[in-house]
Amino acid sequence: METKDGSNNKVKTTRGSKEPSWTPKKENSPEWLREKSFLYNKKITCPVCGSTFEAKAVRSSSYRILSKDTDLFIRYSVINPYFYDVWLCNNCGYATMKVDFLKLRKYHVDSIKERITPSFKPREYPDIYNIDIAIERFKLSLLNYVVMEAKASSKGVNCLKLAWMYRLKKNKDKELLFLKQALENFKEAYSAEDFPIYGMNKHTIMYLIAELLRRTGNEEKALMWLSQVITSRGVNVRLKNLARDQRDLIKEKQDKEALEAEKSRLELISLKEAEEAKTKKKSIFSKFFKK
Ligand SMILES: [Zn+2]
Repeated sequence: METKDGSNNKVKTTRGSKEPSWTPKKENSPEWLREKSFLYNKKITCPVCGSTFEAKAVRSSSYRILSKDTDLFIRYSVINPYFYDVWLCNNCGYATMKVDFLKLRKYHVDSIKERITPSFKPREYPDIYNIDIAIERFKLSLLNYVVMEAKASSKGVNCLKLAWMYRLKKNKDKELLFLKQALENFKEAYSAEDFPIYGMNKHTIMYLIAELLRRTGNEEKALMWLSQVITSRGVNVRLKNLARDQRDLIKEKQDKEALEAEKSRLELISLKEAEEAKTKKKSIFSKFFKK
């Protein structure tokens, strides 16, 4: 279960496949044409302004799962479905993750019209999306959720996906920033919302909170949540094993840190003793050679 860097952040890897770098593809290059062939357009009527637009969708037969990270992030090869997760109406600026797009209420429509549309500038997107476009669209979507005062779970999932996009971009600071925001929202959702939350049952959300705590450096609290997952009845075996792995990972890290601390404490003591012995020697000498 260990990965190359020993951080145990991956669940499984398909042998022989490599994750693409997700850098923008050159227009009309073979890779670009290939990705384009995996997309099709879906006609959507915007529930805010009533205009119709075409949202890009990924053919489900086209992508392959390479591996999963321990915070449930799925790594894909060939084409990345996360890039196409946000639907945006280029007329009024309404944007959300696609599962939520048609679910909004009447009072949401008013908030979007009052607070998004006046400052929204329509934008041109290329035929295929890349990581930077994905980040921009997830940010637009997050802004819409905030304006709509959407459920914490919506903001949580959106923030988590933004963190994952920054992980792909290897921007650790931004990844951590959005992991923390996702965590706060999931904690709120856990105590205030009904399960399932975005397809996740109660135990999965508990596990996810623990894993986000671990990744944001709060190991003690992560252990508390993990032990709850491990000791609860009716938890899916795979989830329980995953929780055990992450608990062991934290314990191993803590043991290692304790050992390091003990080592440096002993080093400090022996250094002090050597220093004292030196002073003692000196004082003997000075006794003999007193002027
Ligand atoms: Zn619209």
